[in-house]
Amino acid sequence: MTRLLLHACCAPCSLEPVRLLEQEGFEPTICWTNPNIQPRDEHRRRFEELECWTEAAGIPLIEAEEDWDRWEATVAPIGALRRENRCRACYALRLEEACRVAVREEFTYIATTLAVSPYQLFDICNDVLGKLARAHGLTPVVRDFRPWYPEATRRSRELGMYRQNYCGCRFSAAEAALDRARLRDERKAAKFAARGEQGVPAGDGACPVA
Ligand code: SF4
Repeated sequence: MTRLLLHACCAPCSLEPVRLLEQEGFEPTICWTNPNIQPRDEHRRRFEELECWTEAAGIPLIEAEEDWDRWEATVAPIGALRRENRCRACYALRLEEACRVAVREEFTYIATTLAVSPYQLFDICNDVLGKLARAHGLTPVVRDFRPWYPEATRRSRELGMYRQNYCGCRFSAAEAALDRARLRDERKAAKFAARGEQGVPAGDGACPVA
């Protein structure tokens, strides 16, 4: 088996990458460093779920350093309107720390669970991983785990894992809430249309995160 450091954002997103990488002959050690997750209670909850699962599954877990101030100073100012730039900086901050740990612990290979979800920016994430890994003398293992996202959802539900409904930062919490409100409104509008009615009842469609 070949040792590989797998940066992980949460337990549900780690399920399929670990299984698939093991099938390829890798032996993943999970690395946690996610100072993007807010609020702190949410951060703790996601970490504890990962800790619980890795312990039960016999997967080594490294809790790396998390620079909250640096996230606020370098990622947060990019703000809500430039999501691609913001997420690129956020991926870089976390993967840089994972690369640092990989070098310290004498790994050759590094991968991440960050782009498991189809809601993530796959190309940007892997571009960041590739550049940082090579700059640290590591080999990036880039795989498209997105086709297994439904299976990860199914397995994590079956295992009773905690499943968050936003990426991590306060911007993503607001973006996800708006998306849910938009989908709810679209479903209602479709229902009204199917019944031959017009308009949306007063009060519906209001922003839930004003
Ligand atoms: S949406 Fe996710 S990846 Fe992007 S900045 Fe927020 S926490 Fe980071």
